[in-house]
Amino acid sequence: MLGKMMERPLIISDLISHAARYHGDGAIISRETSGEVTQTDWRQLDRGARRQASALLALGLNVGDRVATIAWNNRRHLQTWFAVSGSGLVCHTINPRLSPEQLALIINDAGDRVLMFDRTFLPLIVGIKAHVPTVEHFILLGERDEAAAEALSGLMFLDLMVDAVDDDYRWPALDERLPSSLCYTSGTTGLPKGVLYSHRSTMLHSFSISLPDAMNLSARDVVLPAVPMFHVNAWGVPYAAAMTGSTLVLPGPGLDGDSLIDLIDTYRVTLALGVPTIWQGLLAAARKRGSSLPSLARTIVGGAACPPAMIDAFRSEFGCDTIHAWGMTETSPLGSINQPKAKHDLLPEEEMTALRCSQGRPPFGVDLRIVDENGVEQAQDGVARGQLQVRGHWVVDSYFGHAQRAVTQDGWFDTGDIATLDADGFMTIRDRSKDLIKSGGEWISSVELENIAVSHPGVKMAAAIAARDEKWGERPVIIAVRAEGSQIGEDELIAHFRGKVTSWQVPDAVVFVDSIPINGAGKMLKTALRESHGDVLVLRKVLS
Ligand code: AMP
Repeated sequence: MLGKMMERPLIISDLISHAARYHGDGAIISRETSGEVTQTDWRQLDRGARRQASALLALGLNVGDRVATIAWNNRRHLQTWFAVSGSGLVCHTINPRLSPEQLALIINDAGDRVLMFDRTFLPLIVGIKAHVPTVEHFILLGERDEAAAEALSGLMFLDLMVDAVDDDYRWPALDERLPSSLCYTSGTTGLPKGVLYSHRSTMLHSFSISLPDAMNLSARDVVLPAVPMFHVNAWGVPYAAAMTGSTLVLPGPGLDGDSLIDLIDTYRVTLALGVPTIWQGLLAAARKRGSSLPSLARTIVGGAACPPAMIDAFRSEFGCDTIHAWGMTETSPLGSINQPKAKHDLLPEEEMTALRCSQGRPPFGVDLRIVDENGVEQAQDGVARGQLQVRGHWVVDSYFGHAQRAVTQDGWFDTGDIATLDADGFMTIRDRSKDLIKSGGEWISSVELENIAVSHPGVKMAAAIAARDEKWGERPVIIAVRAEGSQIGEDELIAHFRGKVTSWQVPDAVVFVDSIPINGAGKMLKTALRESHGDVLVLRKVLS
């Protein structure tokens, strides 16, 4: 016998329907690409999303087709999310900070049929148009714009498309296992890989992140996702906001401290989320302007390690709780979040501070374990280190377009992070085994930098490592061995990178050494290099 309860699919359109019905007048504030701040609500957003869905389907799109977006966090982008996923299409959010070559690779890999974008990115789109043959329709997220129409032949305009259809479209019943959105993650080697979320995984993730010991979202919150919608779906916050009826404040392109404070203070934001670099800018601007950020009760910091000083500053200067979280594109992203338990209230201050700096514990629905190089599980004692593995309802099983599963034989996903776990599941990231550098929340491939370095005839061998940096968290530094007889200097090698990678990926420094340590398998020992040279940028700054 089976249970005798209704079985309704967990689908994304139910989020927007719920928000429209029960939080219809809940505000959505949006900074547009023009800089203007507009206001709409969940009821209007649902209406716009249904119209947009109907207009998109009229282009001849079918369930499962990919619709790409290159856009900031704004109301049209949000409407697009619900229109696309709600109607059974797949919303592929793309990071505009990638190079044009990477953008084209990703669009081709995804086979996107439609590309929707903010006005700001018009030159970028014009530049890649010839290289993205699968894209049949280009749509500007805005009103009709003559200059844009001239720059890109056949360009359509979202506002005109939405105005031309009626309100009759109703969200279809879909299988909850169908794909809803697609996000690419930087591959350690080769092509970036797509993570294809399902309606079900997205819904379960939304329930989970809303819980009190996670983000504690409610209809009383005013939430500002400073994390871009192209970074793992803004950590799932827009979906959870629709589920809980939170007010949303979408900051558009203005992620500098001053622009964020304007929004936080004007709209009384209670919760803001983003990578550490964003909050550094915000703290500096708040101090300068003398704003005490009175409404801001909590910030959620993730995507890169949160510096302990940031947690202190938010708490002591602004009375704001900083919650550290960890996750990945492959984990939708929430894997762990730092909410102390009642028993921790009794901890001495020093131990409490140390606890708050950890990446937190997994919510229900996610399991974490650490293993050694032979796959043997390590003790959960806060001391033993191991490779962090994860499994759960919103964790990747296989990548988009890859038949092979991305998990261990016993069903765990290896994160490439090295961590400790304590008895309560508080996880602390200690190192990274994957060859990637994370600068201000954005990945840089060390393999790519190494290939460029050794393509210079004056370089015999090179390793790219993540060096600590106060502003960006990590910045790339090249450790290089000169070719015999070569006199190549630091400036010359750095200049060699220009034009080969986007400007923010050019290494900050080069350290020339006589040799690079190598292990038995011929791999460069990055850990040893990070230990000896990881502080080079900080030291140079102090000495300058
Ligand atoms: P992404 O797929 O771009 O979201 O990157 C995920 C990776 O970012 C993780 O595997 C970690 O290496 C890193 N990361 C994310 N959050 C944190 C954090 N709170 N502390 C340290 N590293 C983090």
